Amino acid sequence: MSKIILTGDRPTGRLHLGHYVGSLRRRVELQNSGAFEKIFIMIADAQALTDNADNPEKVRQNIIEVALDYLSVGIDPEKCTIFIQSQVPELCELAFYYMNLVTVSRLQRNPTVKTEIQMRNFETSIPVGFFTYPISQASDITAFRATTVPAGEDQQPMIEQAREIARRFNGIYGETLVEPEILLPDNAACLRLPGTDGKAKMSKSLCNCIYLSDSAEELHQHVMGMYTDPDHLRVQDPGKVEGNTVFTYLDAFCRPEHFEKYLPDYPNLDELKAHYRRGGLGDVKVKKFLIAILEEELAPIRARRKEWEQRIHDVYALLKKGCETAQAVAADTLADVRRAMKINYFEDKELIEEQARKFAEGK
Ligand code: ATP
Ligand code: MG
Repeated sequence: MSKIILTGDRPTGRLHLGHYVGSLRRRVELQNSGAFEKIFIMIADAQALTDNADNPEKVRQNIIEVALDYLSVGIDPEKCTIFIQSQVPELCELAFYYMNLVTVSRLQRNPTVKTEIQMRNFETSIPVGFFTYPISQASDITAFRATTVPAGEDQQPMIEQAREIARRFNGIYGETLVEPEILLPDNAACLRLPGTDGKAKMSKSLCNCIYLSDSAEELHQHVMGMYTDPDHLRVQDPGKVEGNTVFTYLDAFCRPEHFEKYLPDYPNLDELKAHYRRGGLGDVKVKKFLIAILEEELAPIRARRKEWEQRIHDVYALLKKGCETAQAVAADTLADVRRAMKINYFEDKELIEEQARKFAEGK
């Protein structure tokens, strides 16, 4: 079976380092690996509207921001189909049929949705669209016959739900849909990158982000203000590395060659951590090291963004082309689904002939 990727992001803001380590960096590697027949990257505007129904302007403005972020990290529109979810209406129809295959209690058990409901204070009045977004996500994935979904850890319950739907569908209607697999980051720090405030997840909704498009000055400010070990008051105090955001970011971004380049006093990250634990290593020195590493990673991304920002018409043109390509593929899957569900009446010659005969014979 050919390998196909579907992945995406909600246009609720610019993309940040969490997206980068959780999914974007991997997408670029996979795109360049040549191991995938097709790669679909979706800007999930319809999903963003499930908790931003009253703020369509936010979603509208952020489509281009997300597209620019994609192009600036190195996603190549020649190799990937970048498209906008709402422009592929087939996805809604699939979701409508999949809704029959999922129970309310199954949706209520989804741990990511539970956390997100709390974060948004939706406990007493959850929009139905938000509650059911895992079903819509299953249609996004299966519409493209995706085998592989590169994503952060928070997406695991969504992929599990998509697999269940595909299995249930195939069980009832015959082998039609592909069961996708999640591709998680292989580095533990990248599974769920914490926010600069030390909170569990860097997230647009929590305003604790370092954005890919932040300037060098903004990056400096964010890192300098980052949560470390609150008990590490003086340089000579022993410090904690676990739960210390600066070290978590080093786990996510630091490579052996960075020491030689920016911090030659230490041979590797383990030695740096050991010194911090013993005491005698100040936060500022570690933060400056992190800034140098992040700046090396982000400077080329920022520069590519500046170039694409001058080509907004081209970006919209490539999105439009991406939507057309995506729609053709989704329409194909939808035709298979309709056939499997026996709701393709006008193509169903057998049904029409059989009924014509039956009624003609007066049965
Ligand atoms: P929102 O707050 O609007 O939900 P978000 O910051 O959670 O936004 P999404 O668009 O929901 O971002 O997530 C897109 C992709 O990025 C998903 O694959 C998700 O797993 C990944 N991702 C988002 N935040 C992180 C993070 N902090 N660490 C690792 N991966 C992340
Ligand atoms: Mg999210």
